[in-house]
Amino acid sequence: MTLSVTDRIESQPNQSCDVELAKGPWEFDLMPGYGPGASEEDTIPDPIVRPGQLPVVYQQMGEEELHERIRRAKDALGDRLVILGHFYQRDEVVQYADFVGDSFQLANAALTRPEAEAIVFCGVHFMAETADILAREGQSVILPNLAAGCSMADMADEDSVEEAWEQLTELYGTEPDADGRLPVIPVTYMNSSAALKAFCGRHGGIVCTSSNAETVLEWAFARGQRVLFFPDQHLGRNTAKAMGIPLEQMPMWNPRKELGGNTVEQLQDAQVLLWHGFCSVHKRFTAAQIEQARADHPGCKVIVHPECPMPVVDAADAAGSTDAIRKFVAASDPGDTIAIGTEINLVNRLAAEYPDRTIFCLDPVVCPCSTMYRIHPGYLAWVLDGLVEGEVRNRIVVSDEVAADAKIALERMLAAKPR
Ligand code: SF4
Repeated sequence: MTLSVTDRIESQPNQSCDVELAKGPWEFDLMPGYGPGASEEDTIPDPIVRPGQLPVVYQQMGEEELHERIRRAKDALGDRLVILGHFYQRDEVVQYADFVGDSFQLANAALTRPEAEAIVFCGVHFMAETADILAREGQSVILPNLAAGCSMADMADEDSVEEAWEQLTELYGTEPDADGRLPVIPVTYMNSSAALKAFCGRHGGIVCTSSNAETVLEWAFARGQRVLFFPDQHLGRNTAKAMGIPLEQMPMWNPRKELGGNTVEQLQDAQVLLWHGFCSVHKRFTAAQIEQARADHPGCKVIVHPECPMPVVDAADAAGSTDAIRKFVAASDPGDTIAIGTEINLVNRLAAEYPDRTIFCLDPVVCPCSTMYRIHPGYLAWVLDGLVEGEVRNRIVVSDEVAADAKIALERMLAAKPR
């Protein structure tokens, strides 16, 4: 029997990056170093459960009772409810999801259920915001635990990006060149706050996902001389490198330094300015792990997520989004061995789905996404009970103004076509 990630953390604490994760999230939400992770753009929902303050009765409920409550609420709400579960979400929660997918697939899946009054997003904050931007009028998007943020998304805040933009505009000006290309186009990864998607909408920019980053960069270069890419430096670097852009024309923008820590010459010569952000889960993967996997399993295939550092992507046989990783595994043959560099819950689920293949995570240390992990069945039961009682708890609301601008950037992404 395959152990769930929570069981593995509990039973093999010396093989986990953070044993605290196995505790109730209401306990580790309050520990030093675990910030709230929510967007500064939020209007504070009412009623709200502050991190660590889930009603005690839900904290103390056993697995069986929580299961019963969630089932009962789902039955009572029927089509009025849709539950979305991200690929990286823990199994104890994903089992209740009507749709499982990546952030953008899930926001789109919700569109197929216009009759649902409530969309419960078992993912992280920026995903719930995107679902709210795309939701129809009158639908409420709920994030069961408001502390479920994304450390990468939080690495680019609106003020720092505005500040960077001001410096860049001063340096490059705002006039297009002879080909009509603007000096710089902002591109934000889907893993960013609604405020930054709106920033891109206002400044001729666009959103990308890990599946379409190359198409989006081509779109941007058709309209601009260079790109400011945030928040994930690795996705930006890996994609631009695959397009043939030299590394020396991809300086890093450190928001804590003047001109991002670059000289004027470096910025004049730049094609892609990479924001100093990263995913704490994917940055754990190393080229040495790939070497080890190949030594232990001769002939194994290695696929990694493009949020991994460049040496890891270079050493792997393939790199791709969560969806591409799923397709890679589906296209493999029985008996194949596949080492995967992405979040452990997705890898475990693929291993369970394809028992005739050997599938394992490149990182031998169990390290799930700690912010995604904050959605515990206790929080899910609490928000669903609220809906049954007619109360919308932990609603994520993006203001109309921000949503309108963010939608422009999202629509540009949808209209961008591969070459
Ligand atoms: S896996 Fe990384 S990018 Fe994805 S939600 Fe977790 S911290 Fe954010």
